[in-house]
Parts: sequence; C-alpha cells; structure tokens
Amino acid sequence: MSLPTISLESLVSTKSFDQLLTMAKSAGCASSSCGSSAKPDEMDSAVWEKIKDHPCYSEEAHHYFARMHVAVAPACNIQCNYCNRKYDCANESRPGVVSEKLTPDQARRKVIAVANEVPQFSVLGIAGPGDACYDWKKTKATFERVATEISDIKLCISTNGLALPDHVAELADMNVDHVTITINMVDPEIGAKIYPWIFYNNRRHTGIDAARILHERQMLGLEMLTARGILTKINSVMIPGVNCEHLIEVNKWVKERGAFLHNVMPLISDPAHGTHFGLSGQRGPTALELKTLQDRLEDGVKLMRHCRQCRADAVGLLGEDRGQEFTIDQISDDITYDASKRNAYREVVARERGDHVAAKSQAVATVKATGSGKSLHIAVATKGGGRINEHFGHSKEFQVYEASHRGISFIGHRKVEQYCLGGRGADATLEGVIAALKGIDIVLCAKIGDCPKDQLAEAGIRAMDVYGYDYIETAISALYAAEFGSEPLAATA
Ligand code: SF4
Ligand code: SF4
Repeated sequence: MSLPTISLESLVSTKSFDQLLTMAKSAGCASSSCGSSAKPDEMDSAVWEKIKDHPCYSEEAHHYFARMHVAVAPACNIQCNYCNRKYDCANESRPGVVSEKLTPDQARRKVIAVANEVPQFSVLGIAGPGDACYDWKKTKATFERVATEISDIKLCISTNGLALPDHVAELADMNVDHVTITINMVDPEIGAKIYPWIFYNNRRHTGIDAARILHERQMLGLEMLTARGILTKINSVMIPGVNCEHLIEVNKWVKERGAFLHNVMPLISDPAHGTHFGLSGQRGPTALELKTLQDRLEDGVKLMRHCRQCRADAVGLLGEDRGQEFTIDQISDDITYDASKRNAYREVVARERGDHVAAKSQAVATVKATGSGKSLHIAVATKGGGRINEHFGHSKEFQVYEASHRGISFIGHRKVEQYCLGGRGADATLEGVIAALKGIDIVLCAKIGDCPKDQLAEAGIRAMDVYGYDYIETAISALYAAEFGSEPLAATA
C-alpha cells in the first residue's frame, strides 16, 4: 500500500499550513479511488452529511476528527447513583478529575484556541459536569457565541432527558443535529434503583414516581428529536444485577422511537469516587460481559463501540486528551479565529478517506472470502488516519478489531499506561500493558523493540511492525488470509 502524497501526520505538525494547503491542491492523486465517497452505500446522503465529520456518530470519522467538550453547565436536575457531582459527570467523563468550569464567553475563547491549533477539531459538545438542558441558559449562550464565529462546527449536547422536551425547538433553531440522551431503563421499578430523586416542576420526586417521570420525559424528548430529524445517540450505563438484561428492552424502545445509535457503556464504580454505587460495592461489568451484551444487541439500534467515556472538558481525537494545553489561563482575551489549519487538514482528509474506504472494502471482502469460521483479535497502535502509525511503547490505548467470517469489525479499545518514556521502557509498565492485552492474538504497531516483543510472545501475543503505516484493515486482511487461507503467514519484523 502506497503512502499518501501528504500524510495526515504532517498536517498536525507545526509546518506552515499555507504551504501544506498549496501542496494539497497541487499534489494530484495517486489513488485509484480519488473522489470516491466514504459514505456507506446503504446510508441516506442527508444523514451522512450530518455524521461524516462527527467522531462519535461515525466510527470511520473517529480516525480523522476530534471533539471538544466545554464544561459550562454544572447544574443538574436528577441524581444518578453512579455520579458524585464533586467530580465530572460519570456518564460522559472519567470520574475523579475536577473540570475547569467555564462561562459561555470563556468557552468561546477556548473553542477558538482549539480550532486554531487542532486541525481535526469538528464537534463542540456540552456533556456535563451537570445537565446541558437543565443548565440551559449557559448551554444556549455558549452555542450562540461559538456559531457566530465558527459556522461549520457541529454542535452536540448530552442530557439526562428530563428537561429535554422544553428545549427541542430551540435546539432545532440552533442547528444542533446531534443529541445524546442517557437512558438506563424503561421500567420505573428498575429506574428507582438507579435514580434516588429528580427535581421536576419545582419539587423533588423520589422512588418509582421519580423514575416514571424521567422515563416519560426521555421518551417524549426522543420522539420530538426524531420528528425534527435531529440524530440521537442513546447512552446506557450497564450496571450488573440492575439493568444488564433490561438494556435489551431499552434498545427496543429507543429503536421504535427513531434513535440513531446506542452506546452501552460500563459502569465505572470505585469507592474513591464517593458515589452511591461506589460506596455500596456495586461493581461494573467485565469487558467480556459488556461485549456479550453488545453482541446480543447487534440486531437493534446500531451500536457505538468506540466511546471513550471522555472527560467533560476533553479536547482532541477520541482516546487522547489535550485539555491541559488549552486551560483558560493560557488563552488571550482577544483571540480571533484562523481557519487555515482546519481547511488544510480537510483538503487532505477528503482525498485520504476515499482511498481508505476503498482499501477497507477490499480487505473485508478478502476476509469474508477466506471462508474460515475462526476469528482473530487484533490490537492496533494508531494515532489516527486509519493507519498503523504509532510505536508500541508510545501507545496509551490500542484499538481492538475482530476479523471473522462476518468481516472486520472495530470492537473496542484497551487503555494502557505508556510503556516507553524518554527512550526507555519500564518493565513494570510492560506487565500492565500485557495484562491489558489479554485475549488479543496479534498486536500491530509502527515499531516495536525485541524486548517487549519477546515478552508479549511469552504471553501468547504476537507483535509485529511489518505493516507499519498501512491501513489497519489492509494489514488485518493480509494476516487473516495468511492465518486461515492458503497464503503463508507474513514474517514478523
Ligand atoms: S445526569 Fe450526569 S450530572 Fe446529573 S446526576 Fe446523572 S451523571 Fe451526574
Ligand atoms: S464520551 Fe463517548 S460519545 Fe461522548 S465524546 Fe467521548 S467518545 Fe464521544
């Protein structure tokens, strides 16, 4: 597989973006698929336009585009047993890290700073630490300020749904076409185990009464969004012994009401977070329990499997967080928007994506044609662009793919501690990385040293860098065909 004329990596470096843009325009195209669309054949064009640059709504887009959350809405109108609002919102955040809360004007400045420096930036979300619809004035003021300065940023909110029906019309007026609703139950008796109280119509409701009101408002909000063509993602927190089986029912209900995606996330529970579930010993699901449930939901609403449960102030590609580079004290009061980096990046991505989709389609066909009933689990070190382009020792997460007779599917990610710092690997860290890769057959990376490769081999995991900088699916199909087809397995580096 030939490398693109201009790499995506070069576009996120510090080179002159005017120069890169000129190169992008004059480079011509080596690809046979230049101009082909990354749009899936079965997808409506209007829907594709909405999701093609959204890293959460399109698994394919998450290789290229970044989101940022601004923590402008700290107030909440319900209590979830998995949340302690001293910390970030637990359903969209890694708990335990306090966010920098912003005013709408500070948020506007921060968004401009990120847009000027992070070319992949495409989506602005308000996802905690409270509820974006309940803390509505700040949500609305933030979106209005940003939209007047950067008209092509996608606006996105996350809500528990209780106040959602009151704001659907305004969301539509502001061109917000992505809304996430956290729906953990459709049966108030189960809801009462998750929500001790809600605040609605100026009073506190508890128990089954509270869960019933929340459920009715969530369904109403979802129906109203669907009626306006706003895409909805349903987040459900999987809580073993409380709502695991029940999430199958939730999936059916939201499918009937037009939900676009269902994102089943594991409960994050730790006594140190001070949540009711954490303190009462409620455990989260294992990775296997989560995958088993997700597999059972495959025939329902399309599943999101690439969620990273980001912080409420996350910045960057999914899986990375550059928030500390953009704290408000580092941003000038009179910052102005400069579109050059984002424009240059999009020029190259437009070409690269068509090439990637064509390569992926060919790779999937190769795997299916192999006719094997076996599966391979492959962990990939990548920093975006759909390519194997990260060193093993620099990875903070691995993307996990399954190759089987059904094709090649992204099935999740494994977070790890970076093994190599300052050119030296730490043995204790490597042990943790190997433990995190349990169940993986093969690791693909851009580079790996002999020492980690040997230790991975002792744990039964093959690691190789011969496919460095190839498209992920192309490498996987070559491996799968070599393993289960007629061709010999490629030599490892
Ligand atoms: S909706 Fe979000 S902020 Fe509110 S209690 Fe639940 S997890 Fe916490
Ligand atoms: S929490 Fe999940 S859905 Fe929200 S921005 Fe992160 S990856 Fe996307």
